[in-house]
Amino acid sequence: LAARALTLPLERLAVAARRWSHGEFAHRVEISRPSELADLAAALNSMAGSLWQRDDTIRLQAKDRIMESEKLATIGQLAAGVAHEINNPIGGILLYGNLILESTPQDDPRRENMAKIIVQAERAKEIVRGLLDFSRQTPPKIERVDLNGVLLGALELLERHPLAQNVQICAELSPVPLWVQADAPKLQQVVTNIVVNAFQAMAGRGTLTVRSGLSERPGFGRVAISDTGPGISEEHRERLFEPFFTTKEAGQGVGLGLAISYGIMRQHHGEIEVQSTQGYGTTFRVLLPVARQPTAAGGE
Ligand code: ADP
Repeated sequence: LAARALTLPLERLAVAARRWSHGEFAHRVEISRPSELADLAAALNSMAGSLWQRDDTIRLQAKDRIMESEKLATIGQLAAGVAHEINNPIGGILLYGNLILESTPQDDPRRENMAKIIVQAERAKEIVRGLLDFSRQTPPKIERVDLNGVLLGALELLERHPLAQNVQICAELSPVPLWVQADAPKLQQVVTNIVVNAFQAMAGRGTLTVRSGLSERPGFGRVAISDTGPGISEEHRERLFEPFFTTKEAGQGVGLGLAISYGIMRQHHGEIEVQSTQGYGTTFRVLLPVARQPTAAGGE
């Protein structure tokens, strides 16, 4: 009888452990005696309760992420449709504008206004190109590239940016090459968008830290770009990757940089995410699939 008094609670604990391991965190184990096992059961029940709560939060976060990416995909389709329609008229304006400009005498005062029309049409064409990039119209040329090389190339150019004069740039790159699957110029574009935003957020004063390494997510390389700017509010963070979302003054930003970066990362089967605490700066993380080692016969 004494043995049964011990084995029954142990059996109950074993059943509970099995059910929890299958994610059934609502299950509770009932043990009243012996008191040591009853205490253990109470502690385990409380642990299951916490796991249940955490599981729920993760499920909700995943649902939010799916809704977010569906929303961006819909906006992308809409943007691509509009961009296609606008592309041809802009091409027409540029073509005929240039023809008229060419046939207008050098000393004609109307040349100045014609040149302005052409410059504005070219700007519109750039925006349309950005929208097409966002909605995956230009396929990337994916190759095996060293993430550190891309980062160093981008930083070399960015160091000369007018807003970088009083920014301390710290590069903490992985000591060995980090081979990933990427289109190097497009990846450089993503890094540039993030870094220029960081310079602007810090108003040209602060610290920019760029780190690279293997991600905690197996099979992915990671870049983390942190700034010491003012951070991003929750409300803005939710809309960051939408095309035309900008908090900058007219003429300062169009709101396409991060939308395009998001589109590029989706083409790479990678990820771009942001973490920010208002008042404490912002970190953008970019994840890219790691490239397999080339075979000895294939060479590098
Ligand atoms: P744009 O730079 O033209 O505004 P983006 O898509 O690049 O377009 O950025 C959208 C918005 O995201 C910016 O207007 C800004 O409000 C916010 N943002 C991006 N990066 C940062 C950052 N590092 N710190 C604070 N805000 C940022």
